[in-house]
Amino acid sequence: MIHQLPSLPYDYSALEPHIDAQTMEIHHNRHHGGYVKKLNSILEGYPELADVSLERVLTDLRIVPEEIRQAVRNNAGGHLNHSLFWRVMCPPGAGGEPSGVLLEGIESVFGSLAHLREEVTSQAINRFGSGWAWLSLDHNGRLEVISTPNQDSPLMLGYVPILGVDVWEHAYYLKYQNRRADYLAAWWNLVDWRRVSENYVWCMHSLATSRQA
Ligand code: MN
Repeated sequence: MIHQLPSLPYDYSALEPHIDAQTMEIHHNRHHGGYVKKLNSILEGYPELADVSLERVLTDLRIVPEEIRQAVRNNAGGHLNHSLFWRVMCPPGAGGEPSGVLLEGIESVFGSLAHLREEVTSQAINRFGSGWAWLSLDHNGRLEVISTPNQDSPLMLGYVPILGVDVWEHAYYLKYQNRRADYLAAWWNLVDWRRVSENYVWCMHSLATSRQA
């Protein structure tokens, strides 16, 4: 399987003024593009992994030969993490608010959307160095906020992510320099809650199906 850089569902300038077009272009094309390119080159010599999904690989990295395990972890993680990140953002104001079962889930676990936002923001700010903060589902379908270092995927910890925010400096440094908190405050204006809701419903459905199987 040759992995490909997915195109963005919007223009590089679509997230202005919160994320500038130049940051988006470099981030998507060079950073995400770099992970995809590297991943394909690593997997070239390993045809036995060609038909294994990256989700499966990251859920159980022990299936990957040890000599490429760390490189697969970094680059497959980078590829999947960014693929989700682009899709849970949209032009400012277009993403709506959580509703329906997602809102019910958020309120039952966090009390309110405001508390969920505080929890994600806090874990994103406190992630030392590079990494991510996630709204994820555990194996029982319960919502939980977690953070991962580097390009580690929540899948490695048994979680399925439905919303994620990149706090590597490459995600914000051109516009915000060292002000990660300002980037995060702005980022909330870009969350596509319709997509997060779809992700939630899809994951809950998959969990229910796998339990029946
Ligand atoms: Mn990134």
